Amino acid sequence: MPGQPPFRVAVVGSGPAGFYAAEALLASDTPVSVDVYDALPAPFGLVRYGVAPDHPKIKNIISRYEKTASHPSFAFFGNVTVGSDVSVDELRRFYDAVIFANGAQTDRHLGIPGEDLPGSYTATEFVAWYNGHPDYQNREFDLSHERAVVVGQGNVAVDVARILSKTVDELKNTDITARALEVLAESKVREVRMIGRRGPVQAAFTPPEMKELGEFADCDLVVDPADLELNDASRAELEVLKWREAQKNYDLLLAAAGREPAGKSRQLWIQFYRSPKELVGGERLDGVVLERNQLTGDAGKQKSRGTGATELVTCGALFRSVGYRGVALPGVPFDEKAGVIPNEAGRVLSEGKPLAGVYAAGWIKRGPSGIIGTNKPCSFETVKSFWEDAPTLPRCAEPSREAVIAFLKSRSVRVVGYDDWRRIDAAEVERGSAVGKPREKFVTIDEMLGVLQTR
Ligand code: NAP
Repeated sequence: MPGQPPFRVAVVGSGPAGFYAAEALLASDTPVSVDVYDALPAPFGLVRYGVAPDHPKIKNIISRYEKTASHPSFAFFGNVTVGSDVSVDELRRFYDAVIFANGAQTDRHLGIPGEDLPGSYTATEFVAWYNGHPDYQNREFDLSHERAVVVGQGNVAVDVARILSKTVDELKNTDITARALEVLAESKVREVRMIGRRGPVQAAFTPPEMKELGEFADCDLVVDPADLELNDASRAELEVLKWREAQKNYDLLLAAAGREPAGKSRQLWIQFYRSPKELVGGERLDGVVLERNQLTGDAGKQKSRGTGATELVTCGALFRSVGYRGVALPGVPFDEKAGVIPNEAGRVLSEGKPLAGVYAAGWIKRGPSGIIGTNKPCSFETVKSFWEDAPTLPRCAEPSREAVIAFLKSRSVRVVGYDDWRRIDAAEVERGSAVGKPREKFVTIDEMLGVLQTR
């Protein structure tokens, strides 16, 4: 498109999907300027606020995003909430296209009585809290009871179970927040039960994460061999469908079931074929009623069905980790049932038809599944759709970065640019080095902006 001004694209969300979208856009020979928005002054979304603090290697992916951020046509618009500081309609005045990569910010519900009792928490809030997300720092987690239950068996449930089961010594040199370390140091939890509604072959966790659960300094992994019995369909899943990951998980679980507990001061139980029916308690949680399940259906499609047999498990804290869910943004189509923005290859659909210049990438496009790298092909597909559409897209009214900055200034929004973020980042790293951590995160927006007021 020779002779045309560069395309202007806004990416909403600076997590993996947002950064992969920016990377793909900037790799084009066609001139394009890319502004990546985030509600927080800090970029990287779930890499910063979701990845577990004791999994630092996963965060190395940030160096790839840094490379994207150093491209001359890239700008970071941190501390700007799309939907309140600037509406989607207003944003479109300044951009030819908007890519929503704002993730899945809330949890699925269990839909059972007692779910909201004090002491019943979502995994999202616990994870965001110990990772220093400013919106979750007022949360309190009561770890004064000996037993905690984690419902769900995905990798998020594993993260939660691991943080509850490790000693403070195992966590103190990570970027977990100082406050979370204090609370965990006082924790009275001695037994964590991670509960799955289906069986060991259907568990959603992955083998490396499962393996780690048997390697803690002061916590035994406990698996009841009776929980590892398989029906014909589950055996077929292993033997006929040859699910590699499931076989590895199953072998690890069999090995754990065959080991005698070493007498460590804590225990982590992994239990299968159980669903929470009701959370019980008066003013706060006292326990959870679990119903025993059996599996029905063909191999690869098995579902859990209650048998009617129940047991009461007393506990003081329960963490619901049954999957994330997207949140609707005002002015953007949303599929309430699926919790995603309806789209076709990333093109956002309104009443079944593509909305010109509006795209989605990452969890808000496809749902909350996959590892960080899964977002790369997902975002690349979306960007491919954008470039296919670009020649016929209506161009925006005010194609200028200065104009959008002036607009945000008129709304008294303090935009945090990428150089600003670098200063916040350096200050966190410096604070961390004083206490043997890779960084000590600032946990409020004011603290982060405070760094920018100093010379
Ligand atoms: P997930 O992998 O989808 O796991 C959700 C779990 O909740 C499953 O065990 C599911 O069981 C269970 N569940 C759903 N509804 C339930 C209900 N009503 N009652 C009881 N259990 C229920 O989700 P996630 O753990 O939130 O993880 C999201 C994505 O992030 C995943 O792709 C995950 O691998 C990824 N992640 C990766 C890492 C890592 O690589 N280290 C770390 C964290 C997250 P069913 O299978 O029976 O539905």
